[in-house]
Amino acid sequence: MISEKMKQLVANSSAIRAMFEEGNRLAKEVGPENVYNFSLGNPNVPASESVKKAIIDIVNEEDSNILHGYMNNNGFEGVRQTVADNLNRRFGTSFGISNIIMTVGAAGGLNMIFKALLNPGEKVLTFSPHFGEYSNYASNVGAILEAVPANTIDFQPNIAEFEAMIKPDTRAVIINNPNNPTGVVYSEATIKSIAEILERKSAEYGNPIYLISDEPYRELAYDGVDVPYLTKYYKNTIVGYSWSKSLSLPGERIGYLVIPSEIDDYQNVFDAATTAGRILGFVNAPSLMQKVAARCIDENADVEYYNENRKILYGKLIEYGYECVKPQGAFYLFVKSPIADEREFCKAAKNHNILIVPGRNFGCEGYVRIAYCVSRDTILKSLPEFKKLIEEYK
Ligand code: PLP
Repeated sequence: MISEKMKQLVANSSAIRAMFEEGNRLAKEVGPENVYNFSLGNPNVPASESVKKAIIDIVNEEDSNILHGYMNNNGFEGVRQTVADNLNRRFGTSFGISNIIMTVGAAGGLNMIFKALLNPGEKVLTFSPHFGEYSNYASNVGAILEAVPANTIDFQPNIAEFEAMIKPDTRAVIINNPNNPTGVVYSEATIKSIAEILERKSAEYGNPIYLISDEPYRELAYDGVDVPYLTKYYKNTIVGYSWSKSLSLPGERIGYLVIPSEIDDYQNVFDAATTAGRILGFVNAPSLMQKVAARCIDENADVEYYNENRKILYGKLIEYGYECVKPQGAFYLFVKSPIADEREFCKAAKNHNILIVPGRNFGCEGYVRIAYCVSRDTILKSLPEFKKLIEEYK
């Protein structure tokens, strides 16, 4: 017998993964080259040669007891210093090792900081559409995720509704920039408005409302767009980062949290996040991957590959008559379904061997997400099918 809570969670279990499985099934039926699987944000740009070399060099060079051993739960000091130096150089911050905790990807870091900050029943606020797992991470600690309804005009956060939804039991706000699933980059003006409201509301309620910035797509930004670094705008900001996408290492589970010294109750938050990592069973981030990330700190995935995919797919879908806001980051398109029930549209897409995800999985009905982190060949071969699909609705 499994727990009542898990029964519910398993029943609601990710439609995205189910879709991915469906892709594997279809591939057996019609051949993998004829399936256009846009369902999962699994990077298709391979990890670079320097990542491979770093793995081999580190294994050959380092003392294996230290390399593969337990360590400080926060991670190797040298690695944390490298991360802090990198951030300071890029964003003019002044972080040190006491501000960095290495984590098991962004997911690990977010679960740690939620556990550190949230009491059961308290609220964490986000903006729709949003990464579907946030509600599960909140429920892991008995907290509740609330989502500000989407602003479907340009998918920038809905600021007026945001302010109205902040209540005395709102302990944290989580934002994701560049955004999954829209690909939109929240502008500096948006960030300033969010910061101003959080300052005001924190003062009004006499408690800090922490802003958690979830940034696995930070390096995936196009057309020279600026992705604001939030600690500069709001002092109670905590950043979660991951190399899953920027180094194409999602299976290796490596990322970090930034907990600036300026935040309210800094030392307690830092210690609580560290303890949370231990007692959640992460203990520490994967040791070899910490060292790999540090050696490749100035590396990035081949963002141009995604950019080219973006240009081709976005350009063609608009030409065929789809409606979609132009994405400036990440590797997703969030396309308006031509019919109200986007699940029906996803089913119709499947008849063309196109796998896409209903927007309701991201808290936004009437839209579908297309993950374009796929091969160029998949993009090009899918185009006639996308064309036929939309023509069914004309
Ligand atoms: N946050 C967002 C917005 C994501 O899209 C993802 C993964 O797709 C994650 C967090 C989790 O990333 P990680 O693989 O680093 O745990």
